[in-house]
Amino acid sequence: MASGSAIQIPSRLPLLLTHEGVLLPGSTMRTSVDSPRNMQLVRSRLLKGTSLRSTIIGVIPNTSDPTSDCEELPALHRIGTAALAVQVVGSNWPKPHYTLLVTGLCRFQILQLLKEKPYPVAEVEQLDRLEQFTNQHNKSEEELGELSEQFYKYAVQLVEMLDMSVPAVAKLRRLLDNLPREALPDILTSIIRTSNQEKLQILDAVRLEERFKMTIPLLVRQIEGLKLLQKTRKPKQDDDKRIVAIRPIRRINHIPSATEDEDEEGDHDDVVMLEKKIRTSSMSEQALKVCLKEIKRLKKMPQSMPEYALTRNYLELMVELPWNKSTKDRLEIRAARILLDNDHYAMEKLKKRVLEYLAVRQLKNNLKGPILCFVGPPGVGKTSVGRSIAKTLGREFHRIALGGVCDQSDIRGHRRTYVGSMPGRIINGLKTVGVNNPVFLLDEVDKLGKSLQGDPAAALLEVLDPEQNHSFTDHYLNVAFDLSQVLFIATANTTATIPPALLDRMEVIQVPGYTQEEKIEIAHRHLIPKQLELHGLTPQQIQIPQVTTLDIITRYTREAGVRSLDRKLGAICRAVAVKVAEGQHKETKADRAEVAEGEDCKEHITEDAKTDSISDTADLALPPEMPILIDFHALKDILGPPMYEMEVSERLSQPGVAIGLAWTPLGGEIMFVEASRMDGEGQLTLTGQLGDVMKESAHLAISWLRSNAKRYQLTNASGSFDLLDNTDIHLHFPAGAVTKDGPSAGVTIVTCLASLFSGRLVCSDVAMTGEITLRGLVLPVGGIKDKVLAAHRAGLKRIIIPQRNEKDLEEIAVNVRQDLTFVMASCLDEVLNAAFDGGFSVKPIVERLNSKL
Ligand code: ADP
Repeated sequence: MASGSAIQIPSRLPLLLTHEGVLLPGSTMRTSVDSPRNMQLVRSRLLKGTSLRSTIIGVIPNTSDPTSDCEELPALHRIGTAALAVQVVGSNWPKPHYTLLVTGLCRFQILQLLKEKPYPVAEVEQLDRLEQFTNQHNKSEEELGELSEQFYKYAVQLVEMLDMSVPAVAKLRRLLDNLPREALPDILTSIIRTSNQEKLQILDAVRLEERFKMTIPLLVRQIEGLKLLQKTRKPKQDDDKRIVAIRPIRRINHIPSATEDEDEEGDHDDVVMLEKKIRTSSMSEQALKVCLKEIKRLKKMPQSMPEYALTRNYLELMVELPWNKSTKDRLEIRAARILLDNDHYAMEKLKKRVLEYLAVRQLKNNLKGPILCFVGPPGVGKTSVGRSIAKTLGREFHRIALGGVCDQSDIRGHRRTYVGSMPGRIINGLKTVGVNNPVFLLDEVDKLGKSLQGDPAAALLEVLDPEQNHSFTDHYLNVAFDLSQVLFIATANTTATIPPALLDRMEVIQVPGYTQEEKIEIAHRHLIPKQLELHGLTPQQIQIPQVTTLDIITRYTREAGVRSLDRKLGAICRAVAVKVAEGQHKETKADRAEVAEGEDCKEHITEDAKTDSISDTADLALPPEMPILIDFHALKDILGPPMYEMEVSERLSQPGVAIGLAWTPLGGEIMFVEASRMDGEGQLTLTGQLGDVMKESAHLAISWLRSNAKRYQLTNASGSFDLLDNTDIHLHFPAGAVTKDGPSAGVTIVTCLASLFSGRLVCSDVAMTGEITLRGLVLPVGGIKDKVLAAHRAGLKRIIIPQRNEKDLEEIAVNVRQDLTFVMASCLDEVLNAAFDGGFSVKPIVERLNSKL
C-alpha cells in the first residue's frame, strides 16, 4: 500500500488505550498511563534498558467508561493511530503512573486481536501513507485540490487572526506552507478547540476527501469564535487578544510535532504558580536553592522537551513533600496499653516491650536507639501491632514491603537522568502520608535481596542510622531530607537472613505462634467480628460456635499465626452472605441451631456486634429469621472435606516412622521421618529436601545404632547385628518443599531406625527433637517454643526434648504445658525408652512384656 519512500508500520502492534484524548497523525499528545494494562505495555515495550526504544505502538481511543477499565478488555475502537513514544516519565505519586509523550504517525485499523493479556496486541492494517499527498495522482485529485485549497485558505485565515509575534504562531504559519497539505486536517484538528468526539470523527475519516470536508466546518467555527472574542475585547490591549487566542491551543494539550520547541505563554502561568509554591513552601534551604535553579531552567525549556515533564514532576514532588509538616505526638501510656489490649489478644510480652519502648522514647524525647523488629511466623499480628503503635501515638502509618526488593534504587530512588526515574520508597511513603513523622513499617526485612543494582540493605542502613538519617539523600531528590522524626519498625519471619549490619541496629522481639486456645479467642474477639462487618453480616444471621472454630483450626489450617484461619472465616462469611442475600436458608438448619447450640452460640456475640446489628438488619429487607449456624456439616459444605485429618496415628501404624519437630521461618512444624530397608550394599539414601547438617545427623544416627545393635538386640533381615550388612537404608522426610536443615532431627532419625530394625511401633502421640553425638548424648537445640506449639497443634501428647532445653519451657503458656508431658533426655537411651510403649530397654522381650503387665 505504501510507496517506496513511505514509512511502513509493523503488521502487529501493541495497543495503548487512552481515555484522555484522541491522538491524530502528525500531532503529539501527552497521556497519563496508570491502568495495569497500559503500565505493562510501557514497561515491556518502551522501557527495556535505560533508553526509550523506538517501538511503534498503536494508540486506540478508549471510548468505554473509564471506571470499567480494570479487568475486562473493553470493546476496542476499530481505528487508531500508530505512534512513537517520544518520552516516558514515571512518577509514583499519587499512584504509580507514567506520562507518555506520543507522536502520531498514521492511521491503522485493527484486523484481529491477537492477545489480550498482559496488554492487547493486534494484527493491523496501515490506512494512511505517510507521504501520500505528494505522490498522489489519482482521479480525485481535482476535487481534492479544490477542497484542500479551501481548507488551506481557512487555515491561513485562522492563523493570521493570532498574534504573529508569538513564536508558536509564527511557526504554525510556516508549517502551513511547508507541510504536505494532506497532513493539515489532522494537525489543525489537534490544535483548534474540538471535542474528543469530533476528533474521533476525524480519526475515523479514513478517506482524505472526507477528512478535508469534516475539518473545514471546524476551522470556520474556530474563526467565528475568535472574531466574536476580538469584538468583545476590542477596547482592551493586543496582549489580551493574544493570550485568549492561544489558550485553547495549550489547553487541548496537543502540540504539532514540528513545534516542539515553542515557548508557551499559558504554561508559563503554571510555572509562575509553581515558583510561588516553591518560595512559600517550607523546604530546606538547600532544597530551595536547587528548586529555584530548576525552575529557572524550566522557564527556558520548551514544554515538549523530554526534560520539561521530568523537571516539572520533580518540582511538584518537592513542593508536596512534608518538609516541615508533622502530626503532634500524643502518648499517654495508660491509654496506649488499653488500645494495644483492645486490638490484640494475648502477646503479653510483646505488648509490654512495646509500651516500654514507647515510654522510653517519650521520656528521652527522641527516637535514637535501636529499631524494634518483630520476628515471627506470618499472621501472628506483627503488622497489626505496628499499626496500633501508630494509632497510639496519633501518627500516620505506612507499610513498606521489602520482600524481594533487590535494587537499592527501590530504597534510594533513581537518578533523574534515568528514563522513568522515580523517588525511592521512603520518599514516596513520606509523600503519601504527607507528614514527616509517620510510623514506617519495614515489612519482611529478612527477604531483602541483592543484585547487581546495589545492595538495598546498605541503603536501608543509611535510612535507619540516627547519625545519618537526618540528611538522607534520595537519588531522585538529590537533596537531603530529614528522616530523623520517622519512627521505623521492622518485621521479619526469621533473623537468620537479615543482613548482620542491619540486625545490629535492631532490637529483636520474638512473636511466637499462638496456641489453639489463643486462636479461638482471637477468632471470636477480633477476626469473626471483623469478617462479619466486612461482609455486612450480623450475629443474627450467622453464628460460629467455638467448637467450629476449633474444627477450623485443627482440621482446616496448620499454621502458627491466624492468617489462614482468618481466610477460612472469610470464606464462611461469603458463603453465608450469599445465602442471606438470597433469603434462602432453610428452616431446618435454623432449628438445629436453636436446639443444639442455643447456649453456646450466644456467648460469642460481642457487644459491638449487637449494637451494629440493629441498623444492619433494617437494611436487609429480610424477615427476622434464625441465624445460620455453622456446624461441622456446614463447614464441610463450605470449605470442603477437612485437609488435615487425624493422619498421625495412621502414619505411625507401621515400624520405621517417627515424628520429629522442625523449626521453619513460618513457625514450628511436625515432621514425619520414614525409613525402610532393602537388600543392598550398605548404602544410605536420603530424600526430601535436606541440608548437609541433616545428612550428617543421619550418618551419626546409623553409626550409633550399629555400635549399639547388640545391646538393643537389633538385627537386619538376615539376623546379623551388623545392620548394614547386605542391607540398604532409605530415609525419607516427606511433606515439604522447604529445605530442612539443622541437627535437631538427630534423635528422630535414631528412633525411626530403631523402630525399623526392632519391628516395633513408635508411640503415636510422641514427638521429639534434639541433636545427637556419636557417643549417644543428646544436645540442646533451638526453637523449642515454636516446636512445642506445633506438636500441641497436631494433637500430640508427649514431647521428648533435650535435658538442657528444660529452661525454654518456661516461655510456653501454662495451658499448653498442662496438655503435654515433657520428657527431658540427656542420652539416646532415655529417648528410646520414652518413644516406645513400655520402653526400649536392653532387657529381653519376655521380661519387658512381664513388666508391662
Ligand atoms: P503478620 O504481620 O504477623 O504477618 P498480621 O498483622 O497481618 O500478621 O495479622 C494477620 C491478621 O490477624 C490481622 O487481621 C490481625 O489483626 C490478626 N491478628 C493477629 N494476631 C492477633 C491478635 N493477637 N489479636 C487480634 N488479632 C490478631
